Amino acid sequence: MIYILKGHDLRHAVEEMILHLMPTVITEQADIEPEQGDYCISQLKIDGKNATATAIVRIDSRLEQRARVAILPDTDELANKRVLTEIVKLSIYDAILLFLDKAPEWGSLTGVRPAKLARGLMERGITRPQAAVQFREKFGVSPERTAITMRAAAHAQKALELLPQNSVSLYIGIPFCPSRCAYCSFVSQSIEKAADLIPPYVDYLCEEIKQTGEIVANTGRVLSTIYIGGGTPTTLSPEQLEKVMDCVKNSFDMSSIIEYTVEAGRPDTITDEKIKAIKTGGADRVSINPQTMNDTVLKNIGRHHSSDDVIKAYEIARKAGFSVINMDTIAGLLGDTPESFKNTVTSLIALKPENITVHTLAIKRGADLYDKEANSKQHNSVKQMLDTASNLLSSAGYGPYYLYRQKFTAGGFENVGWCKPQTESIYNIAMMEEIQSILSVGAGAVSKHVDLKTGKITRFVNPKYPKEYMESYERIIIGKQKLMML
Ligand code: SF4
Repeated sequence: MIYILKGHDLRHAVEEMILHLMPTVITEQADIEPEQGDYCISQLKIDGKNATATAIVRIDSRLEQRARVAILPDTDELANKRVLTEIVKLSIYDAILLFLDKAPEWGSLTGVRPAKLARGLMERGITRPQAAVQFREKFGVSPERTAITMRAAAHAQKALELLPQNSVSLYIGIPFCPSRCAYCSFVSQSIEKAADLIPPYVDYLCEEIKQTGEIVANTGRVLSTIYIGGGTPTTLSPEQLEKVMDCVKNSFDMSSIIEYTVEAGRPDTITDEKIKAIKTGGADRVSINPQTMNDTVLKNIGRHHSSDDVIKAYEIARKAGFSVINMDTIAGLLGDTPESFKNTVTSLIALKPENITVHTLAIKRGADLYDKEANSKQHNSVKQMLDTASNLLSSAGYGPYYLYRQKFTAGGFENVGWCKPQTESIYNIAMMEEIQSILSVGAGAVSKHVDLKTGKITRFVNPKYPKEYMESYERIIIGKQKLMML
């Protein structure tokens, strides 16, 4: 599809909305109306304080036109831009919607953090019920997704009150896995190829942890939560895990920690010794990620473990006495069906973990994205899976507490963390809602400085690959020092 901008240059907003509604190949064209083919003309007219955005869309020779109007708040340039972006996107949404069989579950929302948007509306003076009405009526979000968003927004508000203003969280990344899962889009190295890199990586990691401890102390900050994730942190040996976690203990004042999580990840890497090292190291939460309890689907995604291994790993962790265990699952995996996904969720609930996270498969951009029929089938099947999970989890006493959307998830859906009362992960909420700064160590780790007053977020990204990371060590430390001086 061709798109043409008239009277504005909100290119990103236009592209995002077209791709949200109809994954297709899009190209911008200059200011001429094409005689043939599919197109979207996005036009903006501003007359004093009055702004009108019009979208003219032609698909398969059918022409539709829709417009949205707004009065500019004129408080500052940023506020005006927010309103203009909104009406440009909504006009395109209204026009393209006329060509679709059904409206997307998330309506016109394209962002990855819907609860953050809801909190933003509330900060600008409306109540939670009014924000819910805006979600449903203005943005066209389904009642179910609106309800989940409002609950996540309430949890974020509570977390904001709990976290001291000068607090930060710490993320430690272990980018190694026993093997690559078929759906993985993360830069993780399989140990078959990268085993030699692990010992030096652990050494550099410990040095970065030590330096990060100094940055936290020297800038008058306190550490509130720690998350060791990956990859698969339990790819490390018990001794390596012990080394990393001892280093954390020796580098930070641990008295302010309210939560310490290790993503044990793949069940085939979990042993008594590793779980013992994690517990002794000070973590009170672990995450075990089966993704599915269907053995055929496990094979399809390239996992080398069975559903029985998941149960064994869970029992090891439960016996070790962690206060919270999370289990991850993914809707939309190759070969999975609504019925077998229902079995997965039922099996996980039967184990009684405190948290269950339901992800939606992120599809890689490629041919599949443009196959309308396959997309529609997958949409219906994933919707059924998510609805079933939501009903089963709610009936079993779990509630949604954080959510985020990824670009190109199957059917444009979301990932939702469910928890039993009082067991929510503050780390997950703080990171997804961007309500706290984070210092991250390891290859590919992203540190963020969050200015809660202005909403400005500044990032510092460590090099992606372990080798590159180890070679750039000094630059990383200087970058993080600067970030925390902001
Ligand atoms: S366990 Fe996670 S990070 Fe590792 S290969 Fe599988 S999907 Fe990727």
